[in-house]
Amino acid sequence: MKIIVQKFGGTSVASEEARIAVKNKVQQAIRNGYSPVVVVSAMGRKGAPYATDTLIDTLKSVNLSVNVREMDMLMCCGEIISSCVMAATLQKYGINAMALTGGQAGIMTDSQFGAARIKNINVSNLMHLLESGIIPVVCGFQGMTENNFKFTTLGRGGSDTSAAALGAALKAEFVEIYTDVEGIMTADPRLVKEANILEQISYAEVCQMAYNGAKVIHPRAVEIAMGSNIPMYVKSTFSDCPGTLITSESGGRRNGSEVAIHENCASGVANLNDLAQFRIELNPSEFAAGRNLFEDLADAGISVGCLNLSEKEAMFAVFTPDVEHTRKVLEETGFKYVCNEGCAKVSVVGSAMRGVPGIMANFVAALAAKNIAILQTVDSDTTISAIIKEEHLVEAVTALHQAFKL
Ligand code: ADP
Ligand code: MG
Repeated sequence: MKIIVQKFGGTSVASEEARIAVKNKVQQAIRNGYSPVVVVSAMGRKGAPYATDTLIDTLKSVNLSVNVREMDMLMCCGEIISSCVMAATLQKYGINAMALTGGQAGIMTDSQFGAARIKNINVSNLMHLLESGIIPVVCGFQGMTENNFKFTTLGRGGSDTSAAALGAALKAEFVEIYTDVEGIMTADPRLVKEANILEQISYAEVCQMAYNGAKVIHPRAVEIAMGSNIPMYVKSTFSDCPGTLITSESGGRRNGSEVAIHENCASGVANLNDLAQFRIELNPSEFAAGRNLFEDLADAGISVGCLNLSEKEAMFAVFTPDVEHTRKVLEETGFKYVCNEGCAKVSVVGSAMRGVPGIMANFVAALAAKNIAILQTVDSDTTISAIIKEEHLVEAVTALHQAFKL
């Protein structure tokens, strides 16, 4: 049996027309000799009646500090509705299908509600269905606690994680992530109209793009696929474009039907919005005297990114919802600081950038040519990022996309 996992995101199951497109993809896989396991997200995006955000608002309007257990249980309903509707659609077209909750599909998690980690997957139920010729339609984003059968959710983007984890547990040939764009692109196509589809990209590069804000795939899903060396594809539900293959090696770009080999060393530009940058005045003796600012922030549960430390100054970024809490911690500890709200991070990612001279020069020149102030840079061997004001975001992403010949 050649098992594959096909995951369909919110927009792919939102309307009857979309669900028929999903049915066609499942049917095609069966025709090609595969045994698909289907994974679905909740139907539609913010504002749709059964979308995850709508469900969250429903409970928050009753009680702002609702228990996380109840919140997870309600959020799971979004995928339960979606899997039942999708299974019914497949059945209507003569495909033998069965809707399953995450728990029924054997996805067992710890009890960290809202961000549960998968502990193990018991595939016996899924294998039994597949061997009987029944297509399982599994609720993404959810699992069940091992000991006491409580519903849990895996965190935002969790359906991608469900698909990758099922792929690994079932030793699938590959995992397909179907969405509303034709693959992983050189930039978010909502910001850059000229963005190109990547024909192939490495697990490591996609992870960097995803960590830096490219929400087309969840980084946890890529990590799981990488751990089991399972190829992943990102494709559109609504076209026949072959999409992007994610594997251990990076590859070329797809321009129309032409595949161009990478002439340059960057693979894509990513952006992360809703950040605030903090700059804190330091005096070299303070850490030595035991005043460790980072301990205070960690104790307060604030996760900081883009950290940069020198003798005189510390700089870091937090997400906008953490700004007030961060200010409070800094004020309590008496550090002098400046907070720049309304920031974004732009990043150029590419494993071939490693050790190539002139990359930073190109990055800085592209932003300088548009008079975009760089508030701070951070880099690793495969990624260069800058914190800028959010109002310059589209211009910055477009300028970097051009400068790196993407
Ligand atoms: P789904 O609901 O199918 O999981 P998502 O909204 O999570 O879909 O992800 C798809 C979206 O990701 C696209 O609509 C696109 O705007 C956005 N996106 C951001 N960066 C990229 C990128 N580099 N390539 C493709 N899509 C991207
Ligand atoms: Mg998604």
